[in-house]
Amino acid sequence: MGLPTTIAIDGPAASGKSTLGVLLAQALGYLYFDTGVMYRALTLAALQRGLNVHDEAAIGALAETVHIDVGPPSVEDGRDCDVFLDGQDVTWEIRSDAVNSFVSDVSVYAAVRKAMTDQQRRIAYANKVVVVGRDIGSVVIPDADLKIYLDASAEVRAQRRYQEMINRGEAADYEAVLRSLKNRDQIDSTREIAPLKVVEDAVVINSDDLGIEEVLEKAKELVYRV
Ligand code: C5P
Repeated sequence: MGLPTTIAIDGPAASGKSTLGVLLAQALGYLYFDTGVMYRALTLAALQRGLNVHDEAAIGALAETVHIDVGPPSVEDGRDCDVFLDGQDVTWEIRSDAVNSFVSDVSVYAAVRKAMTDQQRRIAYANKVVVVGRDIGSVVIPDADLKIYLDASAEVRAQRRYQEMINRGEAADYEAVLRSLKNRDQIDSTREIAPLKVVEDAVVINSDDLGIEEVLEKAKELVYRV
């Protein structure tokens, strides 16, 4: 059998999915596709328009009309990919505290999930890809050749995220980061449609005691074993 051409990586917020996804895609020469940026861009669009994120009809309608483009990085400023919202580069804006606070609320709506999933499938099935998200192995690409679920405790994830913020020179509060992660985990894993969960055919990697190089090695072992 050849190498897997569609690789799904799911897991909770800040589990290291993006870092693993980027490195694995680079190693294989595949497209890296972070689906979280689409939900983030939609949330930013809602906030820019002054919409109430609890107004399901308004957010659902927005999901069907807004234009989100995701592609390989065109600027060398530390980004993993480009994210455009109606033609405007929002790659860094979608990482704001405001977007972090509301993205999980926006992501529960049926119309939002349908609009995003349709676009994600189009990209995933047209390329050799590493796709990162919450529902990739369960809903977006249930027939993915390899499914990885990357896990870590909330405390370890919060500590890593906190350290990243400090390294970027941002003000950070560990307890606030931990609270925000737990809140997103709770909403993402208990929502009715496409909740975050470990599917039966996924391989779980727990990175509590592993560095990124070790996680990458484990993932590569799985790629070459499939
Ligand atoms: O991966 P990231 O933390 O950037 O994702 C932001 C949010 O987008 C998640 O907390 C979740 O609410 C939503 N999301 C989702 N399904 C995906 C990817 C992200 O619901 N496939």
